[in-house]
Amino acid sequence: SDKAITRALLSVSDKSGLAELGAALAARGVELVSTGGTAKALRDAGLTVRDISDLTGFPEMMDGRVKTLHPKVHGGLLALRDNAEHVAAMQAHDIGPIDLVVVNLYPFEATVAKGASREEIIENIDIGGPSMVRSAAKNHGFVTILTDPADYATLVEEMDANGGATTQAFRTRMAGKAYARTAAYDSAIASWFAFADPEGDRTPFPDTLPVALKRADTLRYGENPHQSAAIYVPQVVGTAGVPQAHQLQGKELSYNNLNDADAALELAAEFAGQEPAVVIVKHANPCGVAQGGSLLSAWEAALACDSVSAFGGIVAVNTELDAATAEAISAIFTEVVIAPSVSAEAREIFAKKKNLRLLECGTLPDPRRPGLAMKTIAGGVLIQSRDAGAIGEADLKVVTKRAPTSQELKDCLFAWTVARHVKSNAIVYAKDGATAGIGAGQMNRRDSARIAAIKAKEAAETYGWAAPRTVGSAVASDAFFPFADGLLAAAEAGATAVIQPGGSIRDDEVIAAADEAGLAMVFTGMRHFRH
Ligand code: 5GP
Repeated sequence: SDKAITRALLSVSDKSGLAELGAALAARGVELVSTGGTAKALRDAGLTVRDISDLTGFPEMMDGRVKTLHPKVHGGLLALRDNAEHVAAMQAHDIGPIDLVVVNLYPFEATVAKGASREEIIENIDIGGPSMVRSAAKNHGFVTILTDPADYATLVEEMDANGGATTQAFRTRMAGKAYARTAAYDSAIASWFAFADPEGDRTPFPDTLPVALKRADTLRYGENPHQSAAIYVPQVVGTAGVPQAHQLQGKELSYNNLNDADAALELAAEFAGQEPAVVIVKHANPCGVAQGGSLLSAWEAALACDSVSAFGGIVAVNTELDAATAEAISAIFTEVVIAPSVSAEAREIFAKKKNLRLLECGTLPDPRRPGLAMKTIAGGVLIQSRDAGAIGEADLKVVTKRAPTSQELKDCLFAWTVARHVKSNAIVYAKDGATAGIGAGQMNRRDSARIAAIKAKEAAETYGWAAPRTVGSAVASDAFFPFADGLLAAAEAGATAVIQPGGSIRDDEVIAAADEAGLAMVFTGMRHFRH
């Protein structure tokens, strides 16, 4: 039923909208009670306020750690107004009812985000605030709780529509929101202890995983139109990525756009600080990747790998996007372009393509950063550490009679870098710093090797090359060849060097086949499944 508001307790860290709300409440005959800073802000706005210390009979103390933690506050919040014993207890202890609580909490998340000291972070764990929020929300049959300045105006409308009272429906809605807020707040605190506290033991997989995610946006729909979707970002531990990028132009990003842009950006980030690199992604798999020369020549080489698939693609680059490259990208239909920065001229060129989503991400995410990756299954969630593992030239073991030439080695490592970003089974051919054929997501490795070769053949026909670029290429496989057939398919396509993890019980067979075909092969000792 409707409950009139006669006394309000306001205690807010974020003082935005406070003076307006205080004035609106005072104008409707509501008595205002407040803690130190909030009372001052209200008085500065010319309003009459009762100090919380006057209500409790205790001073605010211990640097504000103890301000509202008192039976006169919590009794006034929790008492059931229609329960004779509760009412008698209120009278016996001189506890007055509090009908409205307006609280927002010490800015714990923002304090962590600004890189404050451990001491300052701990001090920004609000105790009294969440206690009041929880008390008021529990007693939402009688008490109204507001935790978000965005709801202030709605409260005033609600009161005006109901003769100064709030409806049960409104109080219930606000109570749910209040518990969501305290839950998120405690999750942020627990996340910090679990993953960021310099004194913590940083258990990678705590018994209960504190999830402190905040909705950054709702999306039009999910992977398919009948699915709903939203994007959330971590509140305490996070990194730069697509959600943090600045959209310069174009349509709203869809669920698939975000997923594909991430795939493209994370691969482009492998080349951070190196020669210009271009990645073209379709359905979360790269369909062309190239590095070296100018950004424009890298674009042309990436496009040539599979120009059919590049239609409607997602493009990521590792350096500032210039006018010439922008012009070339604009020549084909592209969904999303993401770059650390975009030159003024390039922006003007893209502006002609109204629908193209252009994103500027600033710094590239660190591919070697630690972190967790999760996936839902029926009845649970699988969580693993990110695939941040990497090998260098020194980790490679030559297993064939012939060792790779320095160019083959370079192409092997480039193909390997791309392959870890391709869905398994992944086979990537590369030549002169560009992918020559990519086989993705097949249920056996031989088919991936064949599909990649077919694509390379088609590219040769499209461009009128004498031979496909798989001829004389290096080929990478994300996991070992269980049989020689996949390797032989690659040799048939013209590959001369192979990079793969090794570790199959038939390695000897595979090595013998490589030797027979005159291939040079190196083992990485590390696998990069991506399912
Ligand atoms: P003010 O600026 O009014 O001095 O303080 C407002 C802040 O104090 C709010 O964020 C509120 O959640 C918090 N707060 C209110 N009571 C207590 C308390 O007893 N202990 C602590 N630690 N924080 C409180």
